[in-house]
Formats: sequence, C-alpha cells, structure tokens
Amino acid sequence: MDNKKMHALVTLANDIRVGLFRLEDNRDLFDKLEGLGVELLGFFDEKISALLKWDSVAHHPIIAVNDQDSEKRQLFSLAHEIGHLFIDYGWLPEPYKAQNDFDQLDGVLNVTHYRRVGNRHDARDMQREALMDDFARNFLMPFDEVKVKYIDNGLQAEKTIDELVERYYVSEVAARTQLGFVKKVGGEEW
Ligand SMILES: [Zn+2]
Repeated sequence: MDNKKMHALVTLANDIRVGLFRLEDNRDLFDKLEGLGVELLGFFDEKISALLKWDSVAHHPIIAVNDQDSEKRQLFSLAHEIGHLFIDYGWLPEPYKAQNDFDQLDGVLNVTHYRRVGNRHDARDMQREALMDDFARNFLMPFDEVKVKYIDNGLQAEKTIDELVERYYVSEVAARTQLGFVKKVGGEEW
C-alpha cells in the first residue's frame, strides 16, 4: 500500500479513537464499545481469535473475542474487528446512522483466525487482514503520539517500545511492529 493510503488509514484510526470513542486508556475499550451500542461476547475456539456479527433482531453489531486470550490480545482483537466494522461495513453508531439500515447484514460478517499465513485465505483476504492489523495498531497506538515519543527519546527504539507497552497496554510485539510502521511511513520526515 502506498503512503497516501497509509496516511488515510492512520487518520481514520485516530478520528475513530479520539472523535468517536474518546479513548484515553485502552483498557476502557470494552466499556466504550458497549456505550456505542456494540454487544460483546466471549467464546473459546483454538483457531479463532474474534468474530463480528450483526444481530438483526436487536439491531446492533456483536463482537465476540476469544476469552482464553490475554487481555492485551483481546484488546487487539477488538481493535481489529472495529476495523472490519467501520471500514468493510461502513458502520457508525446512533445518531450518525439508523441501526435498522444494517439489518440486511444479518449473521456472521467476519471471522478472524490466528496464524493467517497458510490458512485457506486467498491473497486478497490476506491483504485485508494485514490492513485491519494496521488499523488496529494505529487505533491502539496513535501514529503521531508514537512518533513524538520516538523523537523525544532521541530515536531510541527499545526505550520507546517499553513506553508504548506501558502507555497503551499492548504486547511488545505489537509495540515493536507499530514503531517499525511509524519509522517506515513517517520516516522521510526525520
Ligand atoms: Zn480480520
């Protein structure tokens, strides 16, 4: 994906985080989602990390996450499914959109598996999943905040990664990947 598209994704993730969710502490994401009318469920399956459904009786989306996962992993799965919900299905909560308008979606909209490489996904699905992971990281760790931290830390990667883990309640792998993303996409500016 080119940088222009990446910047659009970064902006969207930030707008949804700040403008709609008013999310400061990522651990509040469960409550924030419910506040916006999304039903949350837990389940267990060895191969599935999360799934997204539309309930046409209750007229709301359902995100189910694997509750055997760590809380950090669950938060990442939620952010990934938020990407599917907003980007793939154009969902917005009341009062922006009438929820009845989505009832035609009825049923399971998306299933997200672990270890996506070598699954039965085709190349297009793989790209889509990678895009949702990019969205999820930028939703949980806003691009500009990561960039400022990295610059303030004198471009020390390990120190920055430690701070990201602490501030955003993410795994070290997710923090490292996001710093790599910020360096790659925003790298021309320093
Ligand atoms: Zn997915």
